[in-house]
Amino acid sequence: MTAALIDGKAVSAQVLEEVRQRVAACVAKGVTPTLAVVLVGDDPASQIYVRNKGRRAAEVGIATRDHRLGAKETTTESLLELVAQLDADPEVDGILVQLPLPGHIDADAVLLAIDPAKDVDGFHPDNLGRLVLGKPRFVPCTPAGCMRLLQEAGVDPAGKRALVIGRSTIVGKPMAHLLLAANATVTIAHSRTTNLAEEVSRADIVVAAVGRAHLVRGEWIKPGAAVIDVGMNRLDTGKLAGDVDFEGARQRAGAITPVPGGVGPMTIAGLMANVVRSAESRVG
Ligand code: NAD
Repeated sequence: MTAALIDGKAVSAQVLEEVRQRVAACVAKGVTPTLAVVLVGDDPASQIYVRNKGRRAAEVGIATRDHRLGAKETTTESLLELVAQLDADPEVDGILVQLPLPGHIDADAVLLAIDPAKDVDGFHPDNLGRLVLGKPRFVPCTPAGCMRLLQEAGVDPAGKRALVIGRSTIVGKPMAHLLLAANATVTIAHSRTTNLAEEVSRADIVVAAVGRAHLVRGEWIKPGAAVIDVGMNRLDTGKLAGDVDFEGARQRAGAITPVPGGVGPMTIAGLMANVVRSAESRVG
């Protein structure tokens, strides 16, 4: 069997087109969806992420307000002050503080200060709590994108065994809760899991979010399983690789995401969807 490829580029383009139409509807009612982006310091990867988010926002008609702050001049207090201003600004629908923040800044305090109704990254405890309660508001963008990819691949998690590998707050944990809400029987594997191969071989759905190239071997995959590879690992050759041995896994899986071109493009699309959703509540 050769797995069907789940095309994240195509699905994200579809999501962005839906967002563009919803943005236009907001604008027609006098509300321009607006995202405030806060970047502290000059981390090169963060600069690229922020630039890409700005570009996508412009493409779909979302306005952005950039706040670029020097690492040395910025303190936890000054950042909290900026977040408070953005919270109070009725024209700002979403606030994104690019992570990681420099070490001298209390990132938890900053994320906690973001108004949960503007927390388009979905990292605020209020939004994560709602997700756990099965009453989500803003869902973290990468796991939301994974769910959309499963849906587009025609995979209904209900009654299936799903394995999430990785337990981070931004991917693994919210992913497990989304699958649970979709009625899958969910297992979470992590760095202390003793027999990953066995866990993988039982799973109808595998979501790998670890950050180790080719950790999941092709021969572990249950025939016909859906494989969502969140991992983004830069190899010595300069190429990008996922957490799954793609060539091996695609011989056994029913459907699989490539890296690049799978989950990656879904994350920004999910962010834009969260911003327009917030703006729609301003429209009323
Ligand atoms: P993280 O480092 O916060 O978490 C990694 C998790 O993997 C941990 O929970 C750890 O317990 C688990 N782990 C480590 N070694 C393991 C092992 N041997 N077996 C099983 N589990 C193990 O990482 P993260 O932020 O969740 O990101 C994971 C990967 O996803 C990274 O490659 C990251 O670049 C990628 N990522 C991609 C996107 C995207 O848009 N496509 C978004 C976020 C993260």
